[in-house]
Amino acid sequence: MSTLKIGLQKSGRLAEESLMLLKKAGFEFDRFDHSLISRVTNFDIDILFLRESDIPEYVQDGICDLGICGYNTVIEKKAEVPVIQKLTFGFCQLVIAVPKRSKIKSLFDLNNCRIATSYPTTLDKFLETKRIKAQVVEIRGSVEIAPSLKIAEAICDLVSTGNTLAMNGLRVLSKVLSSEAVLISSKKKNSPNFAALIDKVMLRIKGCLAASGQKYLMMNAPKKSLKKLSSLIPSLKSPTIVPLKDPSMIAIHSVVPETIVWKVVEKLKDNGASGILVLPIEAIIP
Ligand code: AMP
Repeated sequence: MSTLKIGLQKSGRLAEESLMLLKKAGFEFDRFDHSLISRVTNFDIDILFLRESDIPEYVQDGICDLGICGYNTVIEKKAEVPVIQKLTFGFCQLVIAVPKRSKIKSLFDLNNCRIATSYPTTLDKFLETKRIKAQVVEIRGSVEIAPSLKIAEAICDLVSTGNTLAMNGLRVLSKVLSSEAVLISSKKKNSPNFAALIDKVMLRIKGCLAASGQKYLMMNAPKKSLKKLSSLIPSLKSPTIVPLKDPSMIAIHSVVPETIVWKVVEKLKDNGASGILVLPIEAIIP
């Protein structure tokens, strides 16, 4: 039996949440400072800690069977790797931005301008599709200061909150790409048990993602209030009703989105529910 290898960012914005997702999915491992590999002790999988920009190629070449990185990196590296799951963290956008007082007001105004970026491949493709003839200036890091250093008239960079752009007196001209962390898989099936192992990993990851932002609600209630209380619970399919020893009472269980759980609890309490429990959910497997 071969061991599945998954490539993760060794440091950076996606590193912590990638590790948290694997831990939540029940993979047990220790990470020692600066170690480049961690062995999962309860599953046939090794975690390789890599540079974000190397992950798509490692997965494409079959050095890793799976990888977690930003979708923007997959596109920038032109890697031939299927995205098998969007992971709902690391949200950001690749945008073209210009100084607030710039004469560049539309994409068309970018013709004959210089655009500084660390994402030249993605930007080139975007400009080509929009038929804009601009000069792409590749720089690594601190792209936002390129206009003030007169290296370029515009920049193309990743933003999430927009604070860095604002601090550098820049405004968004156009979105180039939306991105989030993604799970990618290799087309090179190195190991004979590859598909079965990936299915097991996917079951866990999908289960954890489905549970995120959901709470489990349990309460006791008079049987006669069931209709009213049921109408107040936006349940997954239908709430679970459990009989209690006292025949006039029942227990109701349901899954409720975290964002509205307290509003629902208040209404349930006002309508006769008691002993209400709000519990975290680790995973939901349909
Ligand atoms: P790193 O540069 O190693 O910290 O990680 C960069 C990755 O994090 C990018 O490839 C994006 O997918 C993701 N990311 C999310 N938000 C941002 C942001 N505001 N700036 C840069 N990268 C971001």
